[in-house]
Amino acid sequence: MSPSTELSTVVIVGSGIAGASAAMTLRSEGFTGRIVLIGEEPAEPYRRPTVSKDLLSGATSTEKTALKPDSFWKERDIELITGTTAVDLDTGRKSLTLSSGETLSYSALLLATGGRARKLGGASGAHVFTLRSTADADSLRESIRRTGSLLVIGGGLIGCEVAATARSLGAEVTVLERDPSLLSRIVPPEISTMIASLHSENDVDVCTDVALSSLDVIDDGSARATADDGRSWSAGTVLVSVGTVPEVTLAVAAGLRVHNGITVDGQFRTSTDGVYAAGDAANIPGARDDERYRSEHWNGAQAQGIAAAHSILGKPMPFTDVPWGWSTQYGHTVQFAGATRFDDDYVIRGSIADRDFTAVAVRKDTPVGVISVGRPKDLRTVRTMIAQGRRVDCAALADESVALTADEREGRVAAAR
Ligand SMILES: Cc1cc2nc3c(=O)[nH]c(=O)nc-3n(C[C@H](O)[C@H](O)[C@H](O)COP(=O)(O)OP(=O)(O)OC[C@H]3O[C@@H](n4cnc5c(N)ncnc54)[C@H](O)[C@@H]3O)c2cc1C
Repeated sequence: MSPSTELSTVVIVGSGIAGASAAMTLRSEGFTGRIVLIGEEPAEPYRRPTVSKDLLSGATSTEKTALKPDSFWKERDIELITGTTAVDLDTGRKSLTLSSGETLSYSALLLATGGRARKLGGASGAHVFTLRSTADADSLRESIRRTGSLLVIGGGLIGCEVAATARSLGAEVTVLERDPSLLSRIVPPEISTMIASLHSENDVDVCTDVALSSLDVIDDGSARATADDGRSWSAGTVLVSVGTVPEVTLAVAAGLRVHNGITVDGQFRTSTDGVYAAGDAANIPGARDDERYRSEHWNGAQAQGIAAAHSILGKPMPFTDVPWGWSTQYGHTVQFAGATRFDDDYVIRGSIADRDFTAVAVRKDTPVGVISVGRPKDLRTVRTMIAQGRRVDCAALADESVALTADEREGRVAAAR
């Protein structure tokens, strides 16, 4: 298809940040045809990161987390259909059937279906929750308030954030983590220890190396988790927070290539003509030819939605995004960018103990990832170094008296130009 000449209707499935950004970009880039944005959730596009933070605590409302005012979509002639699921995709006829029974024809279709919370086999019941949407946050908050205690299964980013928020609601909180430390796959042990101490200081009981064997509802209505080694914990409310799986139901049924997300090329095209994918649902090429990844961060999904819209319009832009995200716990914001692994070599600038640092993951003298607390400027700078593949002098990088790059100040710099 030659997108710019044959494009009359763009249908977008999923009204999260990837889908909404794509719709906005199509209009701002001058597309005058029909844009239909379909969302399963009843709410208009909103800021999902608030779900585990201010929305869960009750400090804000779904309305206040809306991405745009109500009138925004109509003013831009974007047909926003909420509370409706796209149930069947016929790529031969280029048509999409909705749960309302309506069928839409498209010239280009974007799948921005995001992710779902991974479930734990055997864990279910009125007290067991997962967290993805504003509706999930409302039910979880109500249960935490009613029962006064929370067991978080999974010490990843969302589990840690919910633990912190539940403490602000006055609940007794226990976190059970399968691995030896919190966030163990993406941060090195020192940072993991710092995060665990943040939780301990806030009276969260953090239990690691927990091989869960059962999760049952007991007589008084609360839930009890038992580990292989005999340890057990009970609480009125349980959050299962063991990762995200891409939402690929439509894509699989339509025969699109799917492998840990909907496989796309550098222009967000799927294996089927006229169908694109972006955001948490998409598996995209990384900086190196042999690398592919699925972003699970807000900014990555937004950048992909924008880039996918450009491709649909026949104006592809080079996509060299270094994924980045953040997590806020007890008022501390941890930022991440690039690929961070627990077993990388890290160069530390600042002090992890003081919760004021930038930790740069370096492979062969080249930064590949960065984690920082309280240093957003460093994060931006290192992110640029990663994108440019700049080599660094590790000793200089660790030395706070040395500028990170020549852009900062004159003199010795840590990164090669
Ligand atoms: C609780 C929580 C906290 C987070 N906090 C942070 C954070 O602090 N920082 C950060 O960087 N990232 C955070 N993230 C991750 C970030 O929110 C996501 O990466 C981002 O929202 C993904 O956007 P998306 O548009 O790809 O998908 P989503 O936001 O998942 O949107 C996809 C939408 O598509 C809809 N949909 C799916 N299938 C269909 C269908 N067949 N028909 C119609 N609609 C459909 C879904 O209902 C959903 O509304 C958080 C995520 C969660 C769940």
